[in-house]
Amino acid sequence: MNSEIVLEAKQLKKSYHKDRIEVPVLRGVDLQVQRGLVTALVGRSGSGKSTLMHLLAALDHPDDGEIFFCGEPIHNASRKRRDAYRNQNLGIIFQFYHLLPELSAIENVLAPLMISQSVLTYFKNRKAAKRHAELMLDRVGLLHRATHKPSEMSGGEMQRAAIARALMTKPSLLLADEPTGNLDTDTGREILSLLNTFNCDDGLSILMITHDDTIAENANQCYRMHDGQLATDPAKLHVA
Ligand code: ADP
Ligand code: MG
Repeated sequence: MNSEIVLEAKQLKKSYHKDRIEVPVLRGVDLQVQRGLVTALVGRSGSGKSTLMHLLAALDHPDDGEIFFCGEPIHNASRKRRDAYRNQNLGIIFQFYHLLPELSAIENVLAPLMISQSVLTYFKNRKAAKRHAELMLDRVGLLHRATHKPSEMSGGEMQRAAIARALMTKPSLLLADEPTGNLDTDTGREILSLLNTFNCDDGLSILMITHDDTIAENANQCYRMHDGQLATDPAKLHVA
């Protein structure tokens, strides 16, 4: 298959230090995420999935190894370049939503634009931004909750708001860390189906991180974390 590789990790290593003892978490991770596909990354709790996601999102530095986005090195880029990489190309969603509690759903969805643009630019474009935020809320089925705060929403609704926020800046790649991990089975299924819709309709590439094997079944490709390294699941290779 000749698919374009959007995100690539080569021999990533990361240890944490506890009481001066080195605890290796990632011991040489190789990963390729192909454009337009859903790639699952499965591993049990504590296996290093979130650690890896933080490295891939340039929120943390690897001890060793390389990360490329569309062929461009990220691991050794300047802080400004790493921030630009994240803001321009990535959507990120977390298990626990990470919504701002004081803001309504629509304000949470608008927040990435408020942060990434100057006050003047944001003010100039605010009507278009609000229309786009409403469109995003509509696409995730949450327009009727636009003015609700997170405390007034269910877990599924909060995750929908988090998805709308993550996709507000039209990223090409979504990193989803246990997007269903805190939801009941049916709600989790709805969230997965919503993510699949964005993959099919917009060509959004998705890296889906999960401890749940059944979630990986819907992915085009599957990696398994074991002993700080990733192995590909041959049954899932080259499906798309
Ligand atoms: P997963 O997301 O697969 O559950 P994590 O990446 O969160 O796993 O954690 C992997 C291992 O690294 C765990 O043993 C965890 O305790 C440890 N760990 C994670 N973050 C830190 C940290 N900031 N400091 C020390 N140890 C950490
Ligand atoms: Mg985790």
